[in-house]
Amino acid sequence: MSEDTLFGKIIRREIPADIVYEDDLCLAFRDITPQAPTHILVIPKQPIAMLSAAQAEDKALLGHLIFAVSEIARQQKLDSGYRVVINTGEDGGQTVFHLHLHLLGGRALGWPPG
Ligand code: 5GP
Repeated sequence: MSEDTLFGKIIRREIPADIVYEDDLCLAFRDITPQAPTHILVIPKQPIAMLSAAQAEDKALLGHLIFAVSEIARQQKLDSGYRVVINTGEDGGQTVFHLHLHLLGGRALGWPPG
């Protein structure tokens, strides 16, 4: 189990978010500080603190999250491409300790990241 975070509050509708997709396992909403014209966070409803804390039993959920990102990208018409980022831990720049996939698109993205 992981600690409750503000993403848990978004799942429970205790704080507002611009939700763009939901199914039984995950929720997707727009990032409050977008880094690209489209910047959506996809989170599991069952919290995992970070990717490095995932267990073998989470494999199906992790696959579900990545497939959900691809569906959301299609819905958002990111036909010319996009990037999926999972910041993990301190060096990975993670600030909210509820696993989330960033879906970034709508402009050409630079590489390498900062
Ligand atoms: P991390 O840095 O952990 O990879 O990403 C956390 C993300 O959550 C950041 O991009 C940040 O802008 C976003 N965020 C933080 N607080 C809120 C909030 O209250 N609502 C929404 N929609 N996004 C948030």
